[in-house]
Amino acid sequence: VFVMLLGNIFLSFSQEYFNPHLSVEERVDDLYSRMTLKEKVGQMTQYVGLKYMQGLTIADQLDDIENQGRKDFYPGLEVKDVKDRVKKGEIGSFLLVKGVDEANFLQRIALQSRLKIPLLIAEDAIHGHARYEGATVFPTPIGMASTFDTLLVKKMATITAKEMRQTGCHWTFSPNVDVGRDARWGRIGETFGEDPFLVGEMGRAMVKGYQNNSLESSVLACGKHFVAGSQPIRGLNFSPMDVSERALNEIWLPPFESIINEGCATIMAAHHDLNGIPCHANKDLLKTRLRDSLGFNGFVVSDWMDVKRLHSLHKIASSQEEANKLAVNAGVDVNMHGPGFFETVVSQVEEGEISEKRIEQAVKSILRYKFSLGLFEKVLVDPSKVNLRSDTAKSLALEAAQKSMVLLKNRSNLLPLKNSKQTRIFLTGPNANNQTILGDWTAIQKDDQIITILEAFKNEPITLDYYASGDHSNISDKDIEETKLRASESDITVLVLGDNPTRSTEVVRTSGENSDGANLKLFGRQDELIQAAYDAGKPVVVVIISGKPRAIKKAKELASAIIYAWEPGEFGGQALADIIFGRYNPSGKLPITIPVSSGQLPAFYNHRPAAYFRSYNDEPTEFLYEFGSGMHYTTVTYNNLVVDDEITNEQPVSIKFSVSNSGNLPVDETILVYVRDNYASVTTPVKSLAAFRKVKLLPNETKLIEMKIPYKAFSLWNQNMERVVEKGDFTIMVDEMKATTQLK
Ligand code: BGC
Repeated sequence: VFVMLLGNIFLSFSQEYFNPHLSVEERVDDLYSRMTLKEKVGQMTQYVGLKYMQGLTIADQLDDIENQGRKDFYPGLEVKDVKDRVKKGEIGSFLLVKGVDEANFLQRIALQSRLKIPLLIAEDAIHGHARYEGATVFPTPIGMASTFDTLLVKKMATITAKEMRQTGCHWTFSPNVDVGRDARWGRIGETFGEDPFLVGEMGRAMVKGYQNNSLESSVLACGKHFVAGSQPIRGLNFSPMDVSERALNEIWLPPFESIINEGCATIMAAHHDLNGIPCHANKDLLKTRLRDSLGFNGFVVSDWMDVKRLHSLHKIASSQEEANKLAVNAGVDVNMHGPGFFETVVSQVEEGEISEKRIEQAVKSILRYKFSLGLFEKVLVDPSKVNLRSDTAKSLALEAAQKSMVLLKNRSNLLPLKNSKQTRIFLTGPNANNQTILGDWTAIQKDDQIITILEAFKNEPITLDYYASGDHSNISDKDIEETKLRASESDITVLVLGDNPTRSTEVVRTSGENSDGANLKLFGRQDELIQAAYDAGKPVVVVIISGKPRAIKKAKELASAIIYAWEPGEFGGQALADIIFGRYNPSGKLPITIPVSSGQLPAFYNHRPAAYFRSYNDEPTEFLYEFGSGMHYTTVTYNNLVVDDEITNEQPVSIKFSVSNSGNLPVDETILVYVRDNYASVTTPVKSLAAFRKVKLLPNETKLIEMKIPYKAFSLWNQNMERVVEKGDFTIMVDEMKATTQLK
C-alpha cells in the first residue's frame, strides 16, 4: 500500500495538471492531451446518484446500497456498473446525490480512475439547498422576486452555495431566468415573474451569489431554460413554441444576456421545440445566439432525458443514437441523466460524425470549471464540518420570507391584528398546518425545523381556535360547515388557502413541474371556504400559499384582507405572524400580474398599446392585481420628480425625487421606475420597468433618492431588428409622478 501511495504521489507530481501553480488553461491543456476519447466523452456524461437510483434516503447507509432491490430507474444497470464507469473515467458528473457520504463515496471512486479527475456534483438548489434534508429553505423564486431586493437574493445564493459545498455539491441548476408569462404553467413559481428586466436582475444577483465566493464556497450557476418555454401554449410544460424574432429579442433573450454578462458558467437547454426545432438540437440557439451573439463561454447541459426525447418525443431522430449526435453537434456539452449516451458518442466521434473539435470545446470547458473550483486540490468534504442553517442563514431566510409577502387588500385597516387574548382568532384552511410553505424543489424537512402557520400562531398571546380542514383537493361539506360555524364564534377568521406542490399520492399536486392547470381559480372547493367564512359575518383574512398567481376573484370580493404569501420557505409561518400581528410592515410587490381568470392570459403589464383597445364582453378586461401591486400598513408618498432633460452620449439618465413614510412603522419600500417611448417606429410597451431599488424608511422619514436609468432601457428593436434608441420623447414614471426626457 505504501509503495502504491508513493507511486500515486509521484504520478500526481509528474502530471502537470495537478500543479496548482500553473494557470487553469495550462492545466486544462495538459490534462486534455493525456485523455483517451472515452475519458473525454465521460466528462460529458452525467448520471443520477446511487441512492437516488435505488430510491433510498440520505439516512440509508451506503453499505446497504448493494443489498437493496434495484428500482428500474436505469433499466439493465446495476449499482456496480455505475461504480465501474466512474472508475474508468466514463462519468464526469452526477445529480441527485444524497448526502455527504455518498458524495465522498463517489469521489473516492473517481480518484481511483486513471487520471483522477474529480466529479462535478449537481443539484437543483433553486431556493436554498432545499432538496437537502436539514438545509436552509428560502422562499421560492417568485417570492424572492416580490422582495425586489437583489442584495437579499445574492445573499441567499451565497448561503446556498456554502451549504452546497459543505455537502459535496458544486453546481446548481439555477437561476431559472424564464420570463413567467402563463400562470397555468406549473413552474411559474420557479420564475422571477413576468418582467424581463426584473428576471435578468434577479438572475444576475443569483449568479453573483453562487459563483463569486471563496474557492471552497462557490458553485457553478446554471441559467435555464434556453429558451422561451415559459409562456407555453395551452399552459402545458413542453408545448411547442412558435416565437418571433422580435419576441426573442425583447422578452426571452435579455435575461440570459444579463446572466451571461455576469459570467454564468453553464446554461441548460429547454424541453420544448422552438419554431419547429427542439432546443436540444437547435444549433441556431445553442451556437449562433448563445455563443456568437450573447458571448457565452461556459458549457451547456441538457435537461433531464431531453436528448433521448429528440427521438422518443419530438421525433426528429429515428433512434437514440441519432438523437445523441444531433444534440452534441448542436452544442449540448453534457447529457443529464444517462445511459445510452456515452457509448454511441464515442463511436460517432471515431466515425467522424461528431468532430474532435466539438468534443474538445465541450470537455475543455467542463475541465476549466473543475480546476477553477479547486476540485483537483480538494474534493472530499468533511462531514464533521457540515454546518447547515447557521444563525445568519436562518435570519436571512426569515427576512426573505417577511419581505416576500404581498399585502393586496386591507379594508378599514383590519391588519395588523392586536395580539391580545381579547381577540378570538379562528385559523383554518388547507395550508394552515403543512409544509406547502416550503414550495417545490425541496425535500420534506424534519417537522422540528419547520414552524407551520398554526405553530406560529400558537406562539402568539391570542385566543386561538383552529380547525384542520382537508387538503385543497379534499375539502368536505363538514369543513365548510365547521368553517362557517367557528368563524361566527370568533372575531376574525384567517383562512390559509392555495396550492400543494408536494409529490405524493395522497394530495393532488397543483403546482410545480408537470403540474399545469387549465384554470387559475383556487383549486377544488377553496372558494366555498371563503364564502362560508364570509357568511358568518365576521372579517376574513385570506392568506395564499402558492407558487402561482391564482385568480382570487372571490377573495377580492369577500375578504377584508389578502396576503399573497407565495411559498415563503421554512420561516413562512413566523413571517406571516410577524406581518399579521404588526411586527413587520408588509413590503412585497407583485412580480407577476394576477388575472381575473385564465381567459385573460397572457396577462402582463408591459403590453403594447393596442392590447386592451377592446374589452371582453363576459368578464372584466382589467386584471385583478397588476404587476407592482402591494400595500404597506403605512402610507408612502413620492414627490418632486426631476429628471435629466436630455439623453446624452449613451449615458444613463439621472432622476431625483423624494419618498416619505407617513406612518409609525418602518417600511422597506420598493421603488419602481418605468419608462415609455412616447412615439416610436415600432410598437413599444405602454411602460417597462427600467430601474428599481429597495429603501428603508423609518417612521415619518423622508429620503431624497437619486437613481440612474440605464441607456439601454430606452432602446427598442427597430424594423431592421437592430437595437437602437430613437430620437424623441420618453416618459419616466415613478409611482404617480411623470416627467419627460428626450433624445435630440
Ligand atoms: C427540469 C430542470 C431540472 C432537471 C433536474 C428537469 O425536469 O426541467 O429544470 O434542473 O429536471 O432535476
